[in-house]
Formats: sequence, C-alpha cells, structure tokens
Amino acid sequence: MNAKILIVEDEPAIQELLAFNVTQAGFIALRAGDADEAWQHIRDYSPDLILLDWMLPSISGVVLARQLRSDARTKEIPIIMLTARGDERDKVLGLESGADDYITKPFSPRELMARIRAVMRRHIPILSDDKVVMGGLELSPESHRVLAKGLPIELGPTEFRLLHFFMSHAERVYSRTQLLDQVWGTQVFVEERTVDVHIRRLRASLEVSGLDSLIQTVRGSGYRFSIS
Ligand code: CA
Repeated sequence: MNAKILIVEDEPAIQELLAFNVTQAGFIALRAGDADEAWQHIRDYSPDLILLDWMLPSISGVVLARQLRSDARTKEIPIIMLTARGDERDKVLGLESGADDYITKPFSPRELMARIRAVMRRHIPILSDDKVVMGGLELSPESHRVLAKGLPIELGPTEFRLLHFFMSHAERVYSRTQLLDQVWGTQVFVEERTVDVHIRRLRASLEVSGLDSLIQTVRGSGYRFSIS
C-alpha cells in the first residue's frame, strides 16, 4: 500500500512541483491550499505524512502544526515544515510547533525525498523479514505466507501484520492503543474497536487448525500471543 502524503501549500506552482516529486517517488499526493482543506483531507484520507508550508492564507502553517499536535487523532502524523525563511529562530519556532523536520525553499527534489524517507522511517514500525516459527505456526514475511500445522491459511494484510507482530512479541500483553501504534502505524483515524474486529478475523482464520487459542484476551488490558 502506497503511503499518502498531504501537501499543504497555497502557491499552485510549488504545490504542483511537490505533488510531482512525491508521485514520482511512489507516494500518493493529496493537495490542500489552506488549513480548512488540509483538515478535510486529514479526516477523509488519514495521510501518513504532511508537507506543510509555513505561510498560508488565514491560518499559518505553524498554527496548523500546533492544532495537529494537540488533537489525539492527528498528533502522531509526521510533519515536515516548508518555508522560505532560513533563519535559526524561525527554524526553532517551526520545530517547537511540532514539526518533525524543516526544509527551506528552494530545495532540491532529492533533498526533499531524503527528508520524507527519513521522517517516515522514524514513524512506521518495522517488522523483520525473517521467517517466524512458533506454536504450530510458520509465518514467512517475504512470501506473505502462513502455515498453521503445516497447512496454508489465508489472511488479509492487516491480520497478517497483526499475527507477525504477535509472533515477534510473544508472551507480552498489548493494549489496543499499543497494537494500533505497532500494527497500523500512523493511520491514526482507526478506532480502538477496529483492533477487536481484526483479532476476531485472525482467530477465525486460525480456528480450523485449532490455533486460535494462541491469541488470548487479557481482560481489562488487551491481547497476548502465548504458546504456554
Ligand atoms: Ca505559501
């Protein structure tokens, strides 16, 4: 699934240039010309990263960054601030408002993409590509296959990632919020009960092999993958 980058920039030429570069690099570009449009896109599409211009009509980029950081649903979305200002005091203000990084115009596409990738890497939890074998299950990240007692089972992408996370972190209890952070990453508009839905689907897929009991509900806390 391609990551979505929201570009908040009021100058059409720069917006176009940013969208072009982001799309060329394999991301999905969403565009907004002001804070209102930005919020609309954030609600509708849950972007994975925001490129935010400092100088915007009505609500400035700095103010928008503060708003994003103070809202529980958006506080984890990485922000890279774009600006024509280069002085150190402005840079500090930009970062204090909650931006993860800061880039001064004019910038090269190469520099921009390097910053985007660096910020993304800090935010999306990485799971290893190594095969995991445990409790009668065999999960191969590279081929995206799961065997339960030697028989292949079909899992959706989220269930696969959920099972991968559990198998990599067995015998520990995770709350729904922790699972959202680890499995869904920065898609912050996913509600906690979504976790239950995917746990239910994962258990249903494991049921034929009798391995659904590996996914344990820990009352009042969350879920645990346990082979004991
Ligand atoms: Ca501007």
